[in-house]
Amino acid sequence: MRLVTFVDAHAASAAPGRIGVVVDDAAGTAVVDLSVAAPSLPTDMIAILRTGADGLTQARDARTSAVGRLPLERVRLLAPVPRPGKVLAIGLNYADHVRESGMEMPQHQIWFNKQLNSITGPGAVEIPAVAPKYVDYEAELCLVIGRRCRHVPRERAHEVIAGYTCGNDVSVRDWQRRISQFTLGKSFQTHGPIGPWLVTPDEFGDPHSKSIECFVNDERRQHSNTRHLIFDCFAQVAELSSAFELDVGDVIFTGTPDGVGGAMKPPRFLRAGDRVRVRIEGIGDLDNHMVDEQRATVIE
Ligand code: ZN
Repeated sequence: MRLVTFVDAHAASAAPGRIGVVVDDAAGTAVVDLSVAAPSLPTDMIAILRTGADGLTQARDARTSAVGRLPLERVRLLAPVPRPGKVLAIGLNYADHVRESGMEMPQHQIWFNKQLNSITGPGAVEIPAVAPKYVDYEAELCLVIGRRCRHVPRERAHEVIAGYTCGNDVSVRDWQRRISQFTLGKSFQTHGPIGPWLVTPDEFGDPHSKSIECFVNDERRQHSNTRHLIFDCFAQVAELSSAFELDVGDVIFTGTPDGVGGAMKPPRFLRAGDRVRVRIEGIGDLDNHMVDEQRATVIE
């Protein structure tokens, strides 16, 4: 099942998202609006995931609903989980990317936070006004936690994963490298796009056999397979949950393969107008475009 958070195509930017299930039918791809087709379900993604098997079965059954069907082009997709409680990302987790970065193979999982307001969906990603020159892409498989959990053994990690989506760990390389902490360089506003939908594990299957690609303006810059993860998805859940509780809706970026713009010779960074697509087998395309940030002081 593919779950989305969406608004109507022409809705105001602050409109609250609704939850839908994506279906393919004779007329094309449609979104079944669960607020119409399954009105007893909660109205945000984390709350629906918290209902567990009961709620997800209702959502699955709604795929055949005659009411609440909207053609995909009539909706605007938001991040499937617009407000996760935590966003964690692992660095240096594909051997080819470690080599292109000129780093040693990691002995331990290298974790950093992306701030929550980096999360966005398909659509615009900002070139920051204060750091416009070294903005880079990182195609990543993201997993979303589906059960509150702690000390999850690797062999049981699959039980706590609600689903998978595409992510782009957008990185401002000069801010990332000029100090020893990644937090700022990895956390600019809109620099954690995820989507287009959350694919549940029953449909996604083995997360460690999927092709992963990144295109910039239709040129393929990254192409690998999740089988090359150094620390796989389940090992990541085990490690993180050994340190602290994971909760429903938490998003984990599982690492990027080689081919990032900063490692090209000469380096090629993103500019306003660039289109960046992350494509993962079994999910689809996360489609973003770069825009210059409209800098404005805000004090409310
Ligand atoms: Zn990354």
